[in-house]
Amino acid sequence: MTVTATRLGGTEPAARVRAEVSELAARVRADGRPPRLTIGTATDDDASAWYVRSIATAAGKAGIDCDIVDLGPAATAAEIRGRLAQLSADPSVTGLMMQTPLPAGVALADVAAAIDPAKDVDGANPLSLGRLAVGLPAFAPATAAAVVALLDHHGVELSGRHAVVVGRSTVVGKPLAHLLLDRDATVTVCHSRTSDLAAVTSTADVLVAAVGRTHLIGPAHVRPGAVVVDVGTNPTEDGGLAGDVDPAVGGVAGGLTPVPGGVGPVTTALLLRNVVRASS
Ligand code: NAP
Repeated sequence: MTVTATRLGGTEPAARVRAEVSELAARVRADGRPPRLTIGTATDDDASAWYVRSIATAAGKAGIDCDIVDLGPAATAAEIRGRLAQLSADPSVTGLMMQTPLPAGVALADVAAAIDPAKDVDGANPLSLGRLAVGLPAFAPATAAAVVALLDHHGVELSGRHAVVVGRSTVVGKPLAHLLLDRDATVTVCHSRTSDLAAVTSTADVLVAAVGRTHLIGPAHVRPGAVVVDVGTNPTEDGGLAGDVDPAVGGVAGGLTPVPGGVGPVTTALLLRNVVRASS
């Protein structure tokens, strides 16, 4: 296969944001408002535990205190809400997020409503999502914001272009659709009930896959020259990560984000930027 796609990597933009975060963190700390991120978890999912540890490590390097409050996989919605409300009221906690997956039957939007919107650094409170939808200032979910930041870093034009987002979750697909609309893209959102997915995705100038199905998007889904962003992080048998986009798409697309090393590092950097912004 001849690779035509430019690699739209996330390492460099993430490093830039992290440098900004370190500087801001030092400033707010000197002003007597030490930034502190608290992450709630209620799962025994290994991939989630790995992700949370990686956020904590990145936070430490940026001068942000980070602690993990594990409520266990059997936690009820009421227990999670109660703990989040308690942490929201704690003045030493400046940023608060609830990691997914949650126990069966518990919806993120339901429990995240207990997160103070001023500390809602991953934009999970329905109030934050509503404000985002109507164009009011709010913390956007870091993954959705990372997609736009990555495209901006690589100079991908959005205004007037057709962006197709595959996935309509409240953490990625839906907020991303709003962010892309705010950038004057014409936006189509696809999901598991979309009939003839390839017919829709192959009309995209910018195609974003946020599905969670390894290599779902193949060359037949992509218009030659289109920019493709792969949000998927699917664990592989050998302990690695695979995206939602088949690497063969690199022979058709004009630009393609790698997995790992694409959206992921930018997401963590933007999350930490939200934490220092919430402290200032
Ligand atoms: P999710 O809540 O499971 O949502 C998946 C979405 O994909 C749903 O809207 C679903 O449609 C749609 N879908 C499922 N199968 C489909 C199919 N065959 N064709 C078209 N659409 C289909 O997942 P998520 O939390 O949004 O995460 C998506 C992926 O991004 C996962 O791999 C996750 O690990 C990754 N992720 C990465 C980062 C990062 O920083 N890189 C952060 C968060 C998530 P329905 O709504 O109809 O069910």
